[in-house]
Amino acid sequence: MAPPLSHDRLMTILRNEGVKLAEYPGWRDRERDDETGKPFGPVHLVLNHHTVARDSLRIVAETGYAGLPGPLAHIHLAKSGLATMCSGGRANHAGLMAVNAYVSFRDEQSTHPAPSKASGTVDGNDCSYGIEAENLGDGVDVWPRAQYDALVRINAAICREYKWKGDSCAGHKETSIEGKVDPRGPVEGYGSRGRFDFTLGQFREDVDERLAHAASWSPGAVTPPKPPTVEERLAALEKRVTALETAG
Ligand SMILES: [Zn+2]
Repeated sequence: MAPPLSHDRLMTILRNEGVKLAEYPGWRDRERDDETGKPFGPVHLVLNHHTVARDSLRIVAETGYAGLPGPLAHIHLAKSGLATMCSGGRANHAGLMAVNAYVSFRDEQSTHPAPSKASGTVDGNDCSYGIEAENLGDGVDVWPRAQYDALVRINAAICREYKWKGDSCAGHKETSIEGKVDPRGPVEGYGSRGRFDFTLGQFREDVDERLAHAASWSPGAVTPPKPPTVEERLAALEKRVTALETAG
């Protein structure tokens, strides 16, 4: 069983993973549990989305859309890499998940089948954390480095807490029976990697790479060369003196 994390624990694990955090006013009391009579949890995966809209924080955290009341995610991720807490309870982000896809993430299978409506459906809002990352989703709008890095950190933080692997992290297009396409688009870069297209296979590898390190790790961090010791500096000086003497 994987009960949802408390508000404070969720924020703590995100901060430990190096995520820059803000809190949307009133987020701790904003969820869909009471309204639907369906309590959030147990949770089995993280579901990643793009917002399609710009200036989407208020929509995601509070207002939602006609026929789709907010909150629309647990966390909103701005292009700057700033994550804003939107809900700790049930959020309207996942819709119906195909059972075959859901099982592949719940059971952390190494491959994830295309979502098939024929396999049946589950309510994805029962069982997944939802991250809404601001991107137009037109395949042109670029995911800045800071945003992609933060998305990897958010997914890794939740996986680390529950002792999950990257195979617990999904894109909406991998679970939806409604033909969703999110997330997608060009990524500016990550670690030592230059521009690439967002794929969930690569994303899960990046989450797994993070999980192999401590929460404080940064990708592609270059270790600065150690300054020479006193002995090494003396030896270098001696060499130069000898060189000068023999030259003279
Ligand atoms: Zn989505």
